[in-house]
Amino acid sequence: MFELKAQMYFSAAHHLLNYDGACENQHGHNWLVEAYVNGNNLDKSNILVDYKVIKKALKEVLDYLDHKDINELPEFKGISPSSEILSKYIYTKMKEIIPQTSKISVWETSTSCASYYET
Ligand SMILES: [Zn+2]
Repeated sequence: MFELKAQMYFSAAHHLLNYDGACENQHGHNWLVEAYVNGNNLDKSNILVDYKVIKKALKEVLDYLDHKDINELPEFKGISPSSEILSKYIYTKMKEIIPQTSKISVWETSTSCASYYET
């Protein structure tokens, strides 16, 4: 099986609900999102999915989150918008555009990352 990965950043504010610690206060991240796409079948150019297509889809999904207070978005009302929840949200949105999306990783710092995929 082949696997592609494309990366894109977005910046946004959030705070965690039901959490005792600094992250309960509003703060921001420059999130790095990694979109994984996999499959066995290459096209006539021997590519799986054009990186341009993956990045266009990522941009479309991430533009909605960029420079927002994520807690204020209707999709996240009353939901603690952790990196875990963001990875699942982005996965679901990416899957609608690119069905071969296999995993989304969301880095909230350069050493901390949450991923969502289905088995
Ligand atoms: Zn945070």
